[in-house]
Amino acid sequence: MQQKLDAELQTIKTVVIDAGHGGKDPGCHGASAHEKNVCLSMALILGKQIKAKYPNIKVVYTRDKDVFVELDERARIANKANADLFICIHANSASASANGTETFVLGLHKTDAQAKIADRENSTIYLEDDKGEKYKDFDMSPDAIIARQLQLSVFLDQSISFAGKLQSEFKGIGRFDRGVKQAGFLVLYKTTMPSVLIETGFLTNPDEEKFLADTTGQKKMAGAMFTAFEKYKNELEGIDEKTGGGKQTAPVTNNEKEPQKTPEKTTGGKVIFRVQVETSDSKIATNATRFKGLSVYEYKQDNLYKYTIGAFENDLSAANKYKNELREKGFSNAFVVAFQNGERISLEKAIKLAEK
Ligand SMILES: [Zn+2]
Repeated sequence: MQQKLDAELQTIKTVVIDAGHGGKDPGCHGASAHEKNVCLSMALILGKQIKAKYPNIKVVYTRDKDVFVELDERARIANKANADLFICIHANSASASANGTETFVLGLHKTDAQAKIADRENSTIYLEDDKGEKYKDFDMSPDAIIARQLQLSVFLDQSISFAGKLQSEFKGIGRFDRGVKQAGFLVLYKTTMPSVLIETGFLTNPDEEKFLADTTGQKKMAGAMFTAFEKYKNELEGIDEKTGGGKQTAPVTNNEKEPQKTPEKTTGGKVIFRVQVETSDSKIATNATRFKGLSVYEYKQDNLYKYTIGAFENDLSAANKYKNELREKGFSNAFVVAFQNGERISLEKAIKLAEK
């Protein structure tokens, strides 16, 4: 039963891990370490950890050995696998003093340095058989990137959330935090799921090269990525994210009376998007001041009470817009959830249903 419940709640079913470069494209290098090898090691350790802890999650590698894979093929692998998350792992190159980790999501670069990194990572296309000819119809102009971002705004949000968690875990293991950034990476351009590109550190910095080229350092980095992945997964699935400030009590048991539902009910097969603002293991009055007088819908899942505001039939973008408004109003943890026939369903499933 618990397993069945887990399967129903599972939002992340497939993760694609993309080790940068490979084969004839070594990427950047330090005194001796090559980016392609360092990335592959971390990618394989991360995948192994995900598989060990979550055997139900499918892990797909764009490469699991030292081979050349074209950039658009990497995105195609992720799209074809119907991935719920795309993680690109790279290492950086600059002066010997530059240091730290940074995580990119697709977007417009804000500085020349960010543009340079995207240019370097994109330049692998010139090693492809047609010397990058097929990317000519990739419109990487600022307008096109903005349009693409809007189209994927729900994923961009999740990408930024995951990127933030990655950076805070890297910081937690003592790496210098260069932050979450945006730049026009070709490999992120065609993916249709939350996607990040991690620059794990500078191979041109002797200390960081030593750390990244060593198995112990690689395990630490992959471990930090795994922890961030777990936190992201739990947030997305609404598990254990106790945002309620109420007194912590023993978990509610299954035979307790179901919480009273507000009159608005989902009917037929319609998908209703709501914005979740609170999760608590104790009941919160729907007229509590923390809800700022807004009409609140309560539901129970995993022995937790969850509170949402707003209801949007088949309209994800309206729900997403409302979520942003609520965040501005101080509901900083607000995120969109979906229901069908009164049951919480995954966003991915809801998006597919709402499109019909
Ligand atoms: Zn790279």
